[in-house]
Amino acid sequence: MPKKKGDIKVVAGGIGASAPERPIKKTNQLLKGFKDILPDEQKYWQHVFKSVEKVAQQYRYLKIDSPILEETSLFVRTVGKETDIVSKEMYTFTDAGGDLVSLRPEATASIARAYIEHGMMSLPQPVKLYYVGPMFRRENPQSGRFRQFYQFGFEVLGGAGPVIDAQNILVAYNICVDLGFKPDAFTVQINSIGCQNCRGEYKKELVNFYKAKRKFLCGDCKKRLIRNPLRLLDCKVEGCRAIRRDAPQILDWLDDECKAHFMGVLEFLDALEVSYVLNPHLVRGLDYYTRTVFELWMSQKEDASQNSLGSGGRYDALVESLGGPPTPACGFAFGIERLVQLMKLQEVKVKDKKSPDIFIAQIGQQAKIRAMKLFEMLRNEGILAYEAFSKDSLKTQLELANKLQVKYAIIIGQKEVLDGTVLVRDMEAGIQEIINYEKVASDVKKKLSSA
Ligand code: AMP
Repeated sequence: MPKKKGDIKVVAGGIGASAPERPIKKTNQLLKGFKDILPDEQKYWQHVFKSVEKVAQQYRYLKIDSPILEETSLFVRTVGKETDIVSKEMYTFTDAGGDLVSLRPEATASIARAYIEHGMMSLPQPVKLYYVGPMFRRENPQSGRFRQFYQFGFEVLGGAGPVIDAQNILVAYNICVDLGFKPDAFTVQINSIGCQNCRGEYKKELVNFYKAKRKFLCGDCKKRLIRNPLRLLDCKVEGCRAIRRDAPQILDWLDDECKAHFMGVLEFLDALEVSYVLNPHLVRGLDYYTRTVFELWMSQKEDASQNSLGSGGRYDALVESLGGPPTPACGFAFGIERLVQLMKLQEVKVKDKKSPDIFIAQIGQQAKIRAMKLFEMLRNEGILAYEAFSKDSLKTQLELANKLQVKYAIIIGQKEVLDGTVLVRDMEAGIQEIINYEKVASDVKKKLSSA
């Protein structure tokens, strides 16, 4: 039998075994943790993009696109060397020029870099930016977690007051509302993790508390105790969650300024009637956060590790840590896959792109050319049409038109080409009429508007 391209020969029993050859077809598959977004799902994604753009315009955020590939050190310096994202999950490699680069695991660090690199500190402050795009983290793939996932984010740089945090949370809340989620479908969880000053004392207290319970902690938490104690509060393992109930709470350790800032945020939220849940255990996984941290959680999800739709907070030291001037800032990011998941769960009504009401069918070479020209003519008039120009049989084309549930099929054959006409068939009534080719667009428009 001739060998086909793409066939691989395997021999049962392994190399050198004498069993008969068994050709198997090797097809390429998605990498683990990656996914295709198929045409059927696109309407949900478009719905998200539209809401994001609309709300961004309402609150005057400007769009920014940053590259997917950045210097690795950008993320090490900002997200933090000891975080899971940087220590375990980044796609990092040395490129052909010898530079150590990473696929971005998140975009806030890139936005801060761009703010400094393009001198945005000389623009009127605060600078309000938003972005949409793919992020990469080599996490353990599980439901709702991917290695390439999409986020959109809203960042406000150069604004210090609690009003900025509150409005940022309001924007996140309003995106959820605009997407069509019922108010009880999600909750805003909020906490303050203070600044470097108050956090230092708190961390000591936290470590002392957890040290006494070390033997009951999971393996990861034993490491966190040394490397990243705040993340002890974030552990999803049941035993560790039980211990957390008695852990000291950061709110009791906030200095006066951080406390006043947090109270200010809550007051604005109360006044704006944004309901929230005070969550003393919310800490966030990235190093750059200061003061306010928040997450939006899906209410319906049992599994707390997968229920976060979006999250954010204040990052007052980030720009400075990258060599820029002191720049208080605040922002959030949502995961689009999670939003799509919730839209499906909530059966949010999403408008599909309008389908054409017309099908153009043709028989014969000359008719095919005429039909293609007609398609262009209708397109220029803003009339959408289906076609199957690669098909020759009229029966097949009309069956397809039927399946697509169009109102009218325009049929062009040899005779119509010679006469300068077309047949317009009312698909439901089965009635056909002859129309002058030149008048098709205006006639079809009339028919569709009166239908
Ligand atoms: P983070 O950047 O970790 O604060 O995450 C912000 C949001 O991005 C989360 O609330 C999720 O909705 C989403 N997200 C984070 N990691 C993943 C992932 N691996 N797969 C899918 N969505 C994710």
